[in-house]
Amino acid sequence: MDADAIVVGSGPNGLVAAVTLARAGRRVLLLEAADGFGGGLRSRELTLPGRVHDVGATVMAMALASPAIRGLELKGVEFVHPPVAAAHPLDDRPAVLVHRDARRTAEGLGRDARAWLATAGAAARAGFPLVELLLKPLGPWEAGLRTFVEGARFGLAAALSATTFARRAFRTVEARALIAGMAAHSVRDLRAPITAGYGLMLASLAHLVGWPLARGGSQMLADALVAELRSLGGEAVTGHRVRHLAELSAPIVVLDVSPRHLLAMADLPAGYRRRLSRFRYGPGVFKMDWALDGPVPWRDPAVAGAGTVHLGGTLEEIALSEAEMAAGRHSPRPYVLAVQPYAADPTRGGHTLWAYCHVPSGSTVDMTDAIETQIERYAPGFRDRVLARHVMFPADLEAANPNLVGGDITGGLMSLVQFLRRPVWSPAPWRTPLPGVFLCSASTPPGPSVHGMGGWQAARLALRTSSLKR
Ligand SMILES: Cc1cc2nc3c(=O)[nH]c(=O)nc-3n(C[C@H](O)[C@H](O)[C@H](O)COP(=O)(O)OP(=O)(O)OC[C@H]3O[C@@H](n4cnc5c(N)ncnc54)[C@H](O)[C@@H]3O)c2cc1C
Repeated sequence: MDADAIVVGSGPNGLVAAVTLARAGRRVLLLEAADGFGGGLRSRELTLPGRVHDVGATVMAMALASPAIRGLELKGVEFVHPPVAAAHPLDDRPAVLVHRDARRTAEGLGRDARAWLATAGAAARAGFPLVELLLKPLGPWEAGLRTFVEGARFGLAAALSATTFARRAFRTVEARALIAGMAAHSVRDLRAPITAGYGLMLASLAHLVGWPLARGGSQMLADALVAELRSLGGEAVTGHRVRHLAELSAPIVVLDVSPRHLLAMADLPAGYRRRLSRFRYGPGVFKMDWALDGPVPWRDPAVAGAGTVHLGGTLEEIALSEAEMAAGRHSPRPYVLAVQPYAADPTRGGHTLWAYCHVPSGSTVDMTDAIETQIERYAPGFRDRVLARHVMFPADLEAANPNLVGGDITGGLMSLVQFLRRPVWSPAPWRTPLPGVFLCSASTPPGPSVHGMGGWQAARLALRTSSLKR
């Protein structure tokens, strides 16, 4: 194919870039290294035949909130909601439940009900305009003045560390634990700045759009994007790893790759090369999937209805385990992020469980026992339900997707510096110094998650600035 645009990598950002370019009338060729499309959206039979497991992303809150994905109005993708968005079991009291309804959630937080509504609730009430402001940190915004005021209010709390915010805003064990579990999605020491922001953003999304899953597996979203690309005349190829930009000839090249690989695959000017080399990767994850012969036997039956379950106990305990991980150690009681797809989606071939814990980059320590012990702590008898298990060390994750450097699922450390400089400090960080070449991966703003915004921004920039001839 004589392409006007070549997209390298088919993660959500690459796919959204490809579809955006194709919808603008460009002939697009998409090249994917793996044997299937989707990057972090892949689903596979990891345990037993017929059991569908999401290899990477499973919770689609960002996808549902994202202007880039919502705007595409894709056919064949159904987001299904569990009865409860998320649960946070505790040892000595009922689990904390996050409902779609902020008021109902607040009622479960006792003395912190009003504080919850004034923080996570207020961000949710600010609605899609605030999400748009957060997902398009460098514009273009359609936000009005009210949204900027809400954004500033959100920003004051968001800039804090999760530990400081939790202690200032809340008094109860329940609310503090809840925000710690949300903030820990950032894979950071919870004493670090802006970790409160990640927690608040995720909590508010639970109220605004819910924390749904894609019916049939996350792969359905990737497949729908590939189908859309092909319906627009685009071509998509798997099993094609691009090793050097010299292999590609098109006026527009959009790279859904990591900065480390961009450095290896392009002859870049020395200044940009130096700036890109400063980019830092975050810790890794140890991922597990199980085929079960029935639902997880939670001690608190209310947890059964939750799509996502945060395991790790109180704020203090989660903060300690994340601090250990950030310091390069393995917590014996790690924070575990678990998802039970069967709570929302009966089409995954039976009861399955998806979970991971955070580990130092490239760790080779087997966390199976530590993770299962945390699950047993809140669900005695869990191990008796296991028919088969599948584990992925950080190196396995990276072997399946080169963007997961050292098992880093966030595409680069989620620090304050790298919130502002991702991967370089620039008003248009998707642009590279090479004419017509753009970067769109999770290592560009707004960072990780299934929102496709990096791809959308890179494609729009490419359409605005590139001529058709290279
Ligand atoms: C275990 C795990 C759990 C997660 N959970 C969630 C979740 O529940 N919700 C959520 O929103 N997000 C989640 N994420 C994060 C989310 O998956 C990522 O942020 C998102 O997929 C990043 O999208 P991307 O397009 O930047 O790149 P990726 O999805 O990483 O895809 C990059 C693609 O590019 C290909 N590629 C790279 N280099 C080349 C090359 N040189 N040539 C050809 N192809 C190449 C790769 O093979 C890969 O397919 C999770 C991630 C992981 C790994």
